[in-house]
Amino acid sequence: MRFLVFVLMLTIAIVPRTVWAQYKVMLSDNYPPYNFINEKGELVGFNVDLLKAINEIYNSEIVISGDNWENINNDMETGKIQAIAGHHYPGDPNDNYIYTRSAINTSHCFLYNTNQSNNFSLELFRSLKEPLVGMWQNDVLIHYVLSINPTAKFVFVDNYKQLIETLDRKDVTCIFSQRVGSMYCAEKLGKDYIRPLEHRILERNMGFKVSKEYPELAEKLNNGLEIILDNGEYQRIYDKWITKYNNSHNDWHQYLKYILIFSSLTIALILLLLGLNWVLQLKVRSKTRDLQQQLELNAQIMQELEKQKIKAEESDKMKSAFLANMSHEIRTPMNGILGFSTLLKEPKLSGEQQQKYIGIIETSGARMLNIINDIIDISKIEAGLMKVDIAESNLNTQIEYIYSFFKPEVEAKGMKLTFKNTLTAKEAIIKTDREKVFAILTNLVKNAIKYSNQGSIEFGYNKKGDYIEFFVRDTGIGIPKDRQKAIFERFIQAEIEDKMARQGAGLGLAISKAYVEMLGGKIWVESQEGKGSTFYFTIPYNEPFKKEIDFEKFDVGDGSLNLKLKILIAEDDETSRQFLTIIADKYGEEIINVINGTETVEVCRNNADIDLILLDIQMPDLNGYEATRQIREFNKDVIIIAQTAYGLSDDREKALDAGCNDYISKPIDKNEFDALIQKYFNK
Ligand code: ADP
Repeated sequence: MRFLVFVLMLTIAIVPRTVWAQYKVMLSDNYPPYNFINEKGELVGFNVDLLKAINEIYNSEIVISGDNWENINNDMETGKIQAIAGHHYPGDPNDNYIYTRSAINTSHCFLYNTNQSNNFSLELFRSLKEPLVGMWQNDVLIHYVLSINPTAKFVFVDNYKQLIETLDRKDVTCIFSQRVGSMYCAEKLGKDYIRPLEHRILERNMGFKVSKEYPELAEKLNNGLEIILDNGEYQRIYDKWITKYNNSHNDWHQYLKYILIFSSLTIALILLLLGLNWVLQLKVRSKTRDLQQQLELNAQIMQELEKQKIKAEESDKMKSAFLANMSHEIRTPMNGILGFSTLLKEPKLSGEQQQKYIGIIETSGARMLNIINDIIDISKIEAGLMKVDIAESNLNTQIEYIYSFFKPEVEAKGMKLTFKNTLTAKEAIIKTDREKVFAILTNLVKNAIKYSNQGSIEFGYNKKGDYIEFFVRDTGIGIPKDRQKAIFERFIQAEIEDKMARQGAGLGLAISKAYVEMLGGKIWVESQEGKGSTFYFTIPYNEPFKKEIDFEKFDVGDGSLNLKLKILIAEDDETSRQFLTIIADKYGEEIINVINGTETVEVCRNNADIDLILLDIQMPDLNGYEATRQIREFNKDVIIIAQTAYGLSDDREKALDAGCNDYISKPIDKNEFDALIQKYFNK
């Protein structure tokens, strides 16, 4: 194709211009936008530009002019012109003229006013009754319109302006006319609401009609057309005059932009909704999870509350039981003390009777003290204030101390007390809370004594793996099987017939159990009614850091030691001082009494040979702790035994911290005092 064009151009270039004859070509001056007279009176249009472009190529002298069809046809007939441009091809072959190749294709269609009907279609037109159609005068296409709707009526016009304006009439349904021409005119009139139907009728070719005598003109026109088609000039001219008016208005391309925008918006909306849905789902999921957790938490809280409620109810019952017990437990010894104190006042009492009454008062006092101690301990356990104080402790010493403490009481009952230490003195030193082990053992031995009337009581320990297993065995009344677990609960006592006779608040074992558990062990009982019981408890065998301990086992004697001690009694209360003086007397060669802390320190400083200080913690001016601290500055050896008032382990700890060797709680028990003296001076 390009080659052909090149050859054509070459031919044109070589052939001298003078050989070109001058041709006259005419076209209609009233066929916008193909060819028409504009406002300036110039002949313009698509066909005019085509001719001009061809003229340009050949540099020829085709003279272009316009007129009405009648004159043009006449001029052609009479040979005044050689060709007509913008001529439709005849329906049948016509050999009288030469027709060039088609320059453009034209068509007719229905046009309507979108302001009046937005959904005008061929189908609608077919169904309307007597639609009014605007048409060109004498237009043969009236038959076509009638073939679609035979009831159609017509309004005839003889120019484009009139035709287009017809569409503004309310009674006019549509117009039927040449598509591009009508749309061009509508635009010129500013009527952008006029639309063509896509349905195109009478599609015809339009080209040049050339006189038979000028075949070379026809050839030129054909070649020229081919050249401008090829070099893009044709397209430029087409775009200038036609494109805009030949666009299919229903063409989806026109809506492509909107379709794209709409689709994008729809997709964006869908994505947004999906996103929203996703976010909502996440939220719902997390809410559900929250709710589930909340529900689980609620269930847990409910369970906990239920437990607390049961506990509270139990605790309530316990409290009532406790109050009932306590009132009995406190009243009984109080009655003993008060009753027999009154009886003692009788002047005529024999010495034997006096001793008997004093004995009863003593026992009652001891019983009362026991109860008070138990109450304090259980309260501290319950309140979570009971601390574990781990330090090195010698098991053997403890066992021996307890043995010597209870021996007189057991023997007084006509029974036998024995103990069993199975570790060597060195091995028996472990890390534990000495006070607690002591309290547990003491309590178990006390019970063994309390609940046995004959036979023997044996206690001690065995090392079992990483644990020390203590035992306290008696040949007493035993405990029914079904009560063996319950007795470790607070205020619970095995149902024994002579319960009242045995005394006790049912706290001892509960305290013991709490202590054992604090130390990391277990407590249990094996018992047979009428035969006796063995209480066991374990504590971890924690060895202290290996070090050589200079430990001398002391012999437990019967308390009748031949000691000649220099004893300092520091006590501000007259009665207590007298009592201490009496019980210390048998061990002392010299006893010095002081009544305050300052004096204690002073006497101590002046008497370096003092062996033992019995020091009251609560003294005026300088208290026991401070006095001890000051004494320890110049005397590290003197044995200081603190007397703690309330049986509170805090006091004991503080005393030991201050530098005391030991402590004894008030009211002072003579046996305990003897055991302490033996502990420190029986060497
Ligand atoms: P208490 O002895 O003050 O009543 P405990 O808590 O020490 O309180 O003991 C609870 C109960 O267990 C006692 O009341 C008693 O019925 C029973 N019990 C404890 N030790 C023995 C024992 N060695 N022999 C028989 N019964 C015992």
